[in-house]
Amino acid sequence: MHVLRSEEKNSIAFIGLGSNVGNRRDNLKKSIEHLRKNSNITLIAVSLQYDTEAFGYKEQPRFLNAVMKITTTLDPYALLNELKKTERLMGRKNGKRWGPRIIDLDILFYNSQVIECKELTVPHADLHMRWFVLKPMSDIEPDFEHPIFQKTISQLLEELNG
Ligand code: ADP
Ligand code: MG
Repeated sequence: MHVLRSEEKNSIAFIGLGSNVGNRRDNLKKSIEHLRKNSNITLIAVSLQYDTEAFGYKEQPRFLNAVMKITTTLDPYALLNELKKTERLMGRKNGKRWGPRIIDLDILFYNSQVIECKELTVPHADLHMRWFVLKPMSDIEPDFEHPIFQKTISQLLEELNG
């Protein structure tokens, strides 16, 4: 009974991971290890890793991207806070938006919630146009439905690929 109750409080979230500085594979691994140590976060699945061209400023190293699925008792803002803490702990400086980074951790989806406020936009803005998000997410949950477009990840990926 107790277990059931605590599971009911769990939300599902998908986190986008990216790195284009230093040992990218190591950076992704360390951030995942750090987050799974958090007792409020349960790791459910991790996608394959994809080597992708930098978005925004093209004159920077290529990214390694992945997506992880978690369940969590944290609300979206507390989860964002944990992600930012992990980024800082790994030595990320507050640099240019879309610029080079050791690690970038974004909330892609939080259940089917739609959030639009100053520090948090969920689903993550423009993810439906980003191969480096849709492709890894399709590894682990191709049938997840985008709550605004009401299309699945695999549909969005198909449309993007043309
Ligand atoms: P980006 O990930 O867009 O390249 P940053 O990682 O530097 O850029 O994030 C800039 C800000 O975006 C963060 O401080 C955070 O408050 C905000 N933000 C808005 N929505 C999200 C989200 N879904 N996940 C993570 N950060 C978000
Ligand atoms: Mg970010």
